[in-house]
Amino acid sequence: MNMFSIIEKKTKKEALSFEEMQYFITGFCKGEIPDYQASALIMAIYLNGMDEREITDLTLIMRDSGETMDLSSIPGIKVDKHSTGGIGDTTTMILTPIVAACGGKVAKMSGRGLGVATGTVDKLESIPGYRTALSAEEFLENVRDIGISLVGQTINIAPADKKIYAIRDVTATVKSLPLIATSVMSKKLASGADKFVLDVKFGTGALCEDYAEAEKLSHYMCKIGNMTGHETVCYMTNMNRPLGKAVGHLLEVQEAVETLKGNGHADVNELCTTLAAEMLSLAGIGTFEACRLKAEQALKDGSALAKFKQLVARQGGNFDVIENPSLFYPAPKEHIVYAKDSGYISFHRAEDIGIATAQLGAARVNKDSKIDFTAGLVFTKCYGDYIRKGEELCRLYSSSDAGFKDAEFYVDRAVNYIPGDFTPEPLISQIIRA
Ligand code: URA
Ligand code: CA
Repeated sequence: MNMFSIIEKKTKKEALSFEEMQYFITGFCKGEIPDYQASALIMAIYLNGMDEREITDLTLIMRDSGETMDLSSIPGIKVDKHSTGGIGDTTTMILTPIVAACGGKVAKMSGRGLGVATGTVDKLESIPGYRTALSAEEFLENVRDIGISLVGQTINIAPADKKIYAIRDVTATVKSLPLIATSVMSKKLASGADKFVLDVKFGTGALCEDYAEAEKLSHYMCKIGNMTGHETVCYMTNMNRPLGKAVGHLLEVQEAVETLKGNGHADVNELCTTLAAEMLSLAGIGTFEACRLKAEQALKDGSALAKFKQLVARQGGNFDVIENPSLFYPAPKEHIVYAKDSGYISFHRAEDIGIATAQLGAARVNKDSKIDFTAGLVFTKCYGDYIRKGEELCRLYSSSDAGFKDAEFYVDRAVNYIPGDFTPEPLISQIIRA
């Protein structure tokens, strides 16, 4: 077997065998296959696709390129959640404490930001002291003791995905459905949970802008889950607008806490209670409707907020930062953006809001650069709200005022003021189970 013939086969649109993909992944991870041959094969896959058997095989090979988490010491059915990423997607920090407060077990490894989409691990690290790097034993102990742990990676999960992603990122091949599906599912399978709830975003702020593409991705991921014995449910959710009010790191932690206190934006509430209910019902805790009532109750009675506080304390974080950021960070500079027109707020491109926050320092410019944790923006009026020209639209925050002008440009480019009748698009558009 050799890389030349494997690449040639994919250029002819033929399906690769398990052995051929294993040869590639093993050799590439060991450094025996050079980046230029890996890049050529990835481009051929990007252009010519893979069938369902190839996708499932590649997922398993990538899962087995590293370690897998053993969650068997935690009693009950473990359900994990994953989002394909979007703008201001604050859900993990809200729905996982809800699930834990309702008796579910949450052993969750999250990711860092990718491009202008921010990541949960970075957001958690904006809480001073919060440790996202735990040993596997400490991670499991936290879940056994308090029902929840949110970390980065505790073990070496799917190293093949890291190497392939690094190539995709610089060869314009990120947006390949088979490669997204194998990337997401290899990591999910290695994380050790029994069942998965996947939040598949579509729209102008999502990786899959096109609805039909996101739908196809959902089917691929359900198929991989089901073929490997893991019940998998995909929620297709709308990213033609940023989620909720805040986009940033500490700003989103604050939004999460406000939501846990019962003061959340309607979209954030709906998404978090729905996904939490799905996780709880997959864990066997009750019917979907009963679990949704439990989730709503956990927001009302403060138990979800208490669980989040317990998690933060347990992992070394100082919760005082939520109410008093100035104890830990220099006060950020503030800049108000006013509506340039009158109408219902909609978005030409939600991604531009992510680009705006990146101008303020809320994204990594390169892989080693530091994030400005207090940077970002908070909408005063959100998607679907009516605003008059000259009214306050949003507030920008940054440790330097150098980015305000560019950030305002992107906010203005993003927002579309719709005059007259306006029917908001629903947040959750479809649930796919197989
Ligand atoms: N998220 C992932 O983990 N992988 C991808 O390829 C895209 C989004
Ligand atoms: Ca948000």
